Amino acid sequence: MGVKIVPRHGDSLKEKLYLLAIVGGLKVTFSHFMKNLKDTSNIETICYPEEQPKDITSRYRGVHRLTKREDDSVRCVACFMCATACPAECIFIEAVEREDGVDEKMPSKFSIDLLECVFCGGCVEACPCDAIRMDTGIFSFVKKNREDFVLDRDTLLSHKPMKGSN
Ligand code: SF4
Ligand code: SF4
Repeated sequence: MGVKIVPRHGDSLKEKLYLLAIVGGLKVTFSHFMKNLKDTSNIETICYPEEQPKDITSRYRGVHRLTKREDDSVRCVACFMCATACPAECIFIEAVEREDGVDEKMPSKFSIDLLECVFCGGCVEACPCDAIRMDTGIFSFVKKNREDFVLDRDTLLSHKPMKGSN
């Protein structure tokens, strides 16, 4: 009832041995090997970490940064939207009243634990005032102590956007 029987291919011994397919595959591998032996400029592998990749796309989600206003003050209004949206619960904020009249609140403390962060970008999406971004291009963050992976407000404010991001 509406069933289509598809004939099975490769029943002969020659086909079952996959010899032609294996030889075809080896031909491709060997041709690439010879090409790269003569000219290494096309090899994508780099000697990381001595050599850093230069082709990180501007859409890459790197380590976070907190953005600033035109007057160089923190843009964040301590609304806790990012912390609420964070699935890893790794954003910690303490709010204080803002005295300069620019806004109602600002964070006195704002930290992100990168060991818990899953780099989902949820905080960036949740922020109503573009105060947090992940466009630093920092993809490798190596420290010796667990505590050093907790980035505080000033560190997050000091991060710069990578070239090409807006
Ligand atoms: S990227 Fe995701 S996991 Fe990391 S701090 Fe933002 S919301 Fe949380
Ligand atoms: S970074 Fe954005 S979402 Fe998070 S507390 Fe600040 S203003 Fe709110």
